[in-house]
Amino acid sequence: MSEEPVREEPEELPEYKIEGARSSRSSCKTCKRKIQKDTLRLGVRIEGPFGVGFLWHHLTCAAKRHAQHVEGAYELRAWAEGVEVPPLEELRKLKEKAEEQKKKRKDPPYAERAPSGRSKCKLCGELIEKGALRVALPIVVEFYGQTRQGSILVHTACVQAALHTDDSAVEDPAGLPQELEANSRDLPPEDLARALDEIGAL
Ligand SMILES: [Zn+2]
Ligand SMILES: [Zn+2]
Repeated sequence: MSEEPVREEPEELPEYKIEGARSSRSSCKTCKRKIQKDTLRLGVRIEGPFGVGFLWHHLTCAAKRHAQHVEGAYELRAWAEGVEVPPLEELRKLKEKAEEQKKKRKDPPYAERAPSGRSKCKLCGELIEKGALRVALPIVVEFYGQTRQGSILVHTACVQAALHTDDSAVEDPAGLPQELEANSRDLPPEDLARALDEIGAL
């Protein structure tokens, strides 16, 4: 149920509500993270054994994963006067983009050969040569007050140092070889062995 007491009478609760979060206590049912105060959130009415309340989502999370609710909320103009909501068209684009990225996305950590010579190693700042083995590592990034997982590309030789940075999201460096093996399916085994060799003992 909603973590935040709902002050309206149950029968007055609309099906949807879009508002700036009144506190930072609710969390998003889509991404499971806290919804910071004043961040736009979408409430979806739920009737459970304990009464009626809203399940909250970041509006942007809902746009990507629960588009039908966002469409419904916009149809009903489910926000109070003065609440500035993004155009529905923008939220639809978010969804399309999220779907495209999902199709393309590989989950870090993984190793691959650089398809061009344009990428830069996030650790040493040098370009990664075309065809060179590089590693994508997961990191924690702050984005408009929300933390989420991102990834960085580094030279194989820079992996060790990258694992010791504050934003590294690799919890168990010793387990990295197994993870790389599981995630680098496009890479021939001999290339993977070479990448691990270049990374060195963890
Ligand atoms: Zn969310
Ligand atoms: Zn480097």
